[in-house]
This record gives sequence, structure tokens and C-alpha cells, in this order.
Amino acid sequence: MAIPKYDVVVIGSGPAGATTARVAAEQGLHVLLCDKRQELGAPIQCSGAVSRHGLESAGVEPSSEFVLEAIYGFGVYNTAGESMILDYRQFKPDEYGAGEGQKPLGFVVDRRRFDRYLMTMAERAGVEVMLKTEALGYQPLADGNCEVQLRHFNEEIRVQARVLVGADGLQSQVGKWAGLRTHIKLTELASCLQFVVDKVETSGLLEIVTGHQWAPGGYAWVFPKGHGYAEIGLGVIRTMTAKNARQHLDHFIKQSFFKERFSDCRILEIQGGGVPLAAPLKTQYADNLILVGDAARHVNPITGGGIHTALSSGVIAGNFLGEIVRSGINPTKKNLKKYQDLWLEDMGNKMWQLYGVKKQIFTTKDIIQRDEMLYRTMSGYFSPYSEYKNIIGILGY
Ligand SMILES: Cc1cc2nc3c(=O)[nH]c(=O)nc-3n(C[C@H](O)[C@H](O)[C@H](O)COP(=O)(O)OP(=O)(O)OC[C@H]3O[C@@H](n4cnc5c(N)ncnc54)[C@H](O)[C@@H]3O)c2cc1C
Repeated sequence: MAIPKYDVVVIGSGPAGATTARVAAEQGLHVLLCDKRQELGAPIQCSGAVSRHGLESAGVEPSSEFVLEAIYGFGVYNTAGESMILDYRQFKPDEYGAGEGQKPLGFVVDRRRFDRYLMTMAERAGVEVMLKTEALGYQPLADGNCEVQLRHFNEEIRVQARVLVGADGLQSQVGKWAGLRTHIKLTELASCLQFVVDKVETSGLLEIVTGHQWAPGGYAWVFPKGHGYAEIGLGVIRTMTAKNARQHLDHFIKQSFFKERFSDCRILEIQGGGVPLAAPLKTQYADNLILVGDAARHVNPITGGGIHTALSSGVIAGNFLGEIVRSGINPTKKNLKKYQDLWLEDMGNKMWQLYGVKKQIFTTKDIIQRDEMLYRTMSGYFSPYSEYKNIIGILGY
């Protein structure tokens, strides 16, 4: 049987892969998008906070099909519970709010429905989608194409592509096949856990609690989740604590200045996963291969937010693929470097800057000083008058 041939095969249908596939198809390419999961976005491993700008700049209109709750600002707390409330409804009432002519600053989305929505957008643009299809390996061929091995249900199949896109998330296997160093050091991998709860009041703000005593190496959060639900979670760096994320979360719920607020809540779901609070990958391309999203560590190293950056890098990757495939030049490592250059110019250099800020905070030995630095950075970061404004404009949450 003839081997199916594509311009681009994308592995992973999260925000990065689905967006890369859609934009490449909009550029006229023949694209296959594969995901090993049967149900996208499940089990949920994400709180779902994303800025409106992040969605719109990737051509995704906010929709009730995936939005759980609108967000209007931030509440940032220091270790003792003193807060900086950054409610954009008060800063810019003409622009932000729920009324006529006003807009939210961002959203909490349901990742199951969001990932499904992005995949459907890709399908409508002409992308061929195969779920329950796991990538097993790839080899560049002498004719400039590459061969990709897939397992579709229980059947092993082979396809060919000009370019393979690794959008397979944290510690990308696809990247490893090409010898890229996608492994993340434990000192930069936040171990995250969140409970979905009821009976916790929220008011349209993403609340962020800093302080080593609550979340060593990261922060804790309380996000509204719509329908009266909330997410209480945290991320910790395991090399900075003898306790695990679950023990820290229990401690935060029972002992923090929010303990009264949480006293009646019931835990309805438990979700967790890893987040790279690391620098972007130094090399994100190889022969016939590029990486996008978490696979290339396109994650904001201060907030750990990776949805906005995954969408944005998907747009950059999709447009670049259109250009290189149409040009007919071979997608060698040398020729694919331009993708990373474009990404660095657009957002990557700013992520490197943020990584420098993050590193300065977490290499500070004195805990009191470190707590103060993190609180100042977080509250400064989310302020409309922020010194980081030119960076946030691009990166959002
Ligand atoms: C607890 C937690 C909370 C978070 N909260 C937020 C938040 O509020 N806001 C935010 O912006 N970010 C958040 N993040 C980060 C965010 O979830 C990620 O940055 C984002 O999902 C990255 O998107 P992606 O498309 O690169 O990868 P992913 O969403 O991880 O998608 C990768 C896809 O690849 C598939 N895959 C993997 N290997 C293979 C294979 N071999 N073959 C086929 N398919 C494969 C997987 O099934 C998956 O669907 C959070 C993360 C965690 C863990």
C-alpha cells in the first residue's frame, strides 16, 4: 500500500499543535494532526486561565462553548495575606466589565472543551485529524521528506511529511528522537496540584498567593471556575521542599489566611501536572522537525502560563511552515532555524528576559527577601502600569 504523504504532520493536539495545524492548513498545506488521547484535554491538567488578547491574537474568538468564567483582574497576596488588588474594572471602567461595550481581560476556559474547539477549528481549515494515534518515531529520508511511525488504535502505520511538528507537551519525546535536550531539570519543574471545589466565593479575579511557606519555588492560586466552583491550587519546586504538592495544598487550605474562606468547601476533583518554570529550549529545530508550545518550553517562566504562548507559537510555526513548504527548499536543520529566529523576535527574547527575572528571585538565598521579590514581581507584573507592560502585552497570563 502506498504511504500517505503530507506537507506537515503535527504530533499533539493541545493549543500549540491544533493552532500550528490550523494555520498551516490556512496556508494551503496538506496537514495531519495526531493525538494519542481519545478525548482531548482529558484528564484535565490545567487551570485554564488565558488572556482575551491571547485568544484573539491567535484568531480564536472567545465562545461560550469553552469559556467557564470571565476574568477582570488579579489579586496578588504576600505571605502574610496583604494584597494588591488589580481590578481592571476599576482602572479602566470604559473598557473592562460585563456591561454593554465592555470586555473581560481574560477567561478561565474548560480545557476539555477548549482543546476540542481548537481541533474543530483545525478540521474546518482542512486538517486531517487522527485521535488515539500515538507517534512512535521519525526518520529523515534522503529525498528531503521524513517518515513518521504512528500507532493508530492497535495498528502501526507509517506516513511521510516534509516537516514533523512536535507539539507533544512537556519533556517532548518527539524532540528527544531528534537529539534535542527536552528534559527539564527538577529544579525548574513545578509540581502542580489543584482541587476543584465548591462554596468558595470569587469575584472575577485570578488570585495569586506568594510566599515560601505556602508554595516553595512557585505560588498558590484561587481561580473562579464558573457555576459557583473554584480552583484552589499550587505549584512547588520539589528540590526546595521536603513535602509534596498535596501536603502543601492541604497546609494552604487549612492553615493560610484563607482558611475561614475555605472552611466549607468540598473537593470535587483533583488535577495535577508539571509546569516548566524554565528557559525556552535553546534549539527547537532539527532536520525535518520543529517543536512548539510546552515541547519547546514556550511557557511564561514567571506565571507558568503556557496557553497564550502555545497559541502564539502555533501561529508563528503555521505561517513559517506555509512559507518553507511552498518555497520547495529542503527542510534541513539549517533551513528550519528561521522558525526559531522568528519566534525569538516575536516573543522568545522576552521570555528569556522573564527567565532572567525568575532566576534572580529564586536564587536569592534569604527567604524573606525572596518572598518580597516574588510578591513585588507578581503584583508589578499584572499591574496596568507595570514595568513589564511591554512584555505582558505579548505574553498575558
Ligand atoms: C496544574 C496546571 C495548571 C495550569 N494552568 C494554566 C493556566 O491557568 N493558564 C495557562 O496559560 N497555562 C496553564 N498551565 C500550562 C498549560 O496547561 C500548558 O502550558 C499548555 O497546555 C501547553 O500546550 P501544548 O499544546 O504545548 O501542550 P499540551 O496541552 O500538553 O498538549 C500536548 C498534547 O500532545 C499529546 N501527545 C503527547 N505525546 C504524544 C505522542 N507520542 N503521540 C501523540 N500525541 C501525543 C498529548 O496527549 C496532548 O494532547 C497549567 C499546567 C498545569 C500542569
